[in-house]
Amino acid sequence: SSNDTLINSNNVNMKKWRVFVIPYFARGHLIPMKDFADLLSANHPDIEPTMVVTPGNTKFITSSLGKSNRSMQYPVQILTYPFPLIGLKPDVETVGIGKSTESSAIDKAAHMARPGQEQILQKYKPDAVITDVMFPWIAAIAADLGIPCLFFASTGAFPILIIRSLLKMGVYLGLHDHATVSGLPGPEIRMPVLELPTFVFEDNYMQKPERATKSWTDVFGFVVNTCRGLELEYCNEFEKTQASQAYFVGPVSVSCSMNQHDVIERGGEGETNCLRWLDNKEEQSVIFVSFGSQCYFKSAQLHELAMGLEESGQNFLWVIRGVDQSDEWMPEGWEERIADRGLVVRGWAPQLAILAHAAIRAFLTHCGWNSILEGTAAGVPMLTWPLAFEQFINEKLLVDVVGCAARLWEGGKRSTRETESELVPRTEIAHAVSRFMEPEGENSSVHCKARELGVVIRSAMAEGGSSTSDLSRLISDLINAMQSKTCQ
Ligand code: UDP
Repeated sequence: SSNDTLINSNNVNMKKWRVFVIPYFARGHLIPMKDFADLLSANHPDIEPTMVVTPGNTKFITSSLGKSNRSMQYPVQILTYPFPLIGLKPDVETVGIGKSTESSAIDKAAHMARPGQEQILQKYKPDAVITDVMFPWIAAIAADLGIPCLFFASTGAFPILIIRSLLKMGVYLGLHDHATVSGLPGPEIRMPVLELPTFVFEDNYMQKPERATKSWTDVFGFVVNTCRGLELEYCNEFEKTQASQAYFVGPVSVSCSMNQHDVIERGGEGETNCLRWLDNKEEQSVIFVSFGSQCYFKSAQLHELAMGLEESGQNFLWVIRGVDQSDEWMPEGWEERIADRGLVVRGWAPQLAILAHAAIRAFLTHCGWNSILEGTAAGVPMLTWPLAFEQFINEKLLVDVVGCAARLWEGGKRSTRETESELVPRTEIAHAVSRFMEPEGENSSVHCKARELGVVIRSAMAEGGSSTSDLSRLISDLINAMQSKTCQ
């Protein structure tokens, strides 16, 4: 096809193993898979990863390429294939960025990307493919072409195991108020049905043509962006129940190959004023408030959150997505009143750099998997406010299994369906935030656990750590598979 283009096509060395990395159309997938591609190339000189994305998604993974003076020797290539024509405006190719109707259109049309993906794999015939598990059909394409294929999951072993169990229960779930997942190690997992990801209620979800693949068990392996130190029992269980190899290589955000510039520009052009603002704050004095790359809140909830943060009396750095939204949520005179202790970032914040800053004491998070990995790796205790997808399951892991986080609010109906969740009142937000920021308060054990866990998780990514050795095992298995394919 003339629609695909090779960007950054330096370093063409035919002796290298070309590994295609194919992320889903969401920043929470593009970012970790790009980090993972970086890790692959940093850990083996003969592996040449290529990020395979649609044109509208290149900007989320190239921002650090252009400016960091690394572009000349940057080893990860980028190849584009056309986004399916589904009547969206050009460049609207990422879920969670624009209107919610656009996001659901992108989700629904994802399987229409298959022909473009198939064409590019047939044309370039890479030595291996690592595909987002959101594109399961790529395993079948790779199997037909005789190319070793691995799945990459941007979520952890615990949520994957829970979701698999829930999918087995399927529509029966809807008959109850709570779901109990049995058969897993650790404490019994019981959750309100309202807090479960909505797709688990879909009849025959896994049998849908776009999800079903004969290759689910044929794939060579499963790469999970997690770390044994965070969820050991669940990693073991995942390994036991998984037909193929499992590799726990995360958090991929803790990467030796990222310099400070890359950290700031990761996932988009970061707003750097907030780092200077943090420099002027006392150590351990600020709560970082961010809800990921998507935009979830209605104005009424933003208003309550603004008032809650003000009433908490704490320093806060708050990232608001949806810059094109009007400021109707903002209480009158609010910005002036909070000016000396609060900062609002509209747009993209350099989250990794913020979490690593000495001024940060706590993180109010929506529990997106990447955010919780980044929070735990930084040793920052988390206050949880899950909103959608598998975020309540992630919260369950952090709060009830690991103990490095506390729930912001449980006083009313919480739900993955925005229309059903109750407004979280300002007074509750204010109380929860101010209590959580106290050094010796009721949450001191949570703070302590978070600090300990940070050390454990960072050491997993260091030399001799569990994630590093899983990555080495992955690389050597992959090279063996590619070699035996070449010898056939
Ligand atoms: N992120 C960021 N700046 C922002 C918002 C998000 O760097 O202003 C990054 C964050 O560090 C994480 C990713 O975007 O790597 C969000 O992924 P997550 O799984 O936490 O949530 P999602 O966006 O998928 O809901």
